[in-house]
Amino acid sequence: MIEFHDVNKTFAGQPAVSNLNLTFAEGAFSVLIGTSGSGKSTTLKMINRLVEHDSGLIRFAGEEIRSLPVLELRRRMGYAIQSIGLFPHWTVARNIATVPQLQKWSRQKINDRVDELMALLGLEPVLRERYPHQLSGGQQQRVGVARALAANPEVLLMDEPFGALDPVTRGALQLEMTRIHRMLGRTIILVTHDIDEALRLADHLVLMDHGEVVQQGTPLTLLTQPANAFVREFFGRSELGVRLLSLRTVGESMREEIAPSDATPLRDVMSLRDALSAFVTCRCEALPVINAHNQPCGTLYFRDLLHTETAHDVAP
Ligand code: ADP
Ligand code: MG
Repeated sequence: MIEFHDVNKTFAGQPAVSNLNLTFAEGAFSVLIGTSGSGKSTTLKMINRLVEHDSGLIRFAGEEIRSLPVLELRRRMGYAIQSIGLFPHWTVARNIATVPQLQKWSRQKINDRVDELMALLGLEPVLRERYPHQLSGGQQQRVGVARALAANPEVLLMDEPFGALDPVTRGALQLEMTRIHRMLGRTIILVTHDIDEALRLADHLVLMDHGEVVQQGTPLTLLTQPANAFVREFFGRSELGVRLLSLRTVGESMREEIAPSDATPLRDVMSLRDALSAFVTCRCEALPVINAHNQPCGTLYFRDLLHTETAHDVAP
């Protein structure tokens, strides 16, 4: 969907990004991660030409981005950022409708779209006529995402969208994004410096440092086959086991035994990390597992969790 070939960008003689070669696949949830100043935002902004690259080639759906009018390019890409940038004197509904209004959609079509997006983002209809200062931080961020999605963009670009939120709200919005991504199948590129956020969301993970790509691949590849010491250090050796647990589900690790139990069951789609918390709470050796239809489908053993942690070829 989006390809970078040997892309460079310099600000006042200082390279911000160098020799970027990247592919963001259609429908994938890609995450750019790295420390502050590593070139993540610059990379993202070159995609919608908020920043113009100096050299190299960027393609969007097969076309060189400079061959497309910049307004058309931006119309086809939603953009959501941490500072949200909601218009303070506009209601929630009007903020969400920003782009459709620019595109002169009919009033009826705009109203329907606003309703649809508010439902999608879990925003109560009563919030429709409120102003941004009357919303919580999490609600404002949801409005920002709804606005970015309003005109059905082919790509959603997100720059630290949940950066300013408390951990609980942030976790809830991450879950929402995973659900929305699954439902809409839209191509998403998200920038973050938060490792857990990256591991939770990414199909494809790109680790950047000093304006260069250090390694890209699935989260599991970066954790279990780090290309060098920097990658290994970045993801933190000490927490590696716990992080691996967050990438695997109960369903993948359970045994297909169904035994009667009074314990609160786990769901097959839960991460092993959440299952670990449940074991700590219940202090038991095994827990029943249920599927999406609330039918018992197996049993997860605590000792299998420990096994999962060490069973993979983790570089020392
Ligand atoms: P990140 O998003 O990973 O924190 P950025 O892409 O924002 O990093 O920045 C990469 C480098 O480019 C940094 O050294 C930053 O100071 C520099 N930079 C970014 N934008 C500008 C700009 N508009 N003018 C000058 N330097 C910039
Ligand atoms: Mg940034």
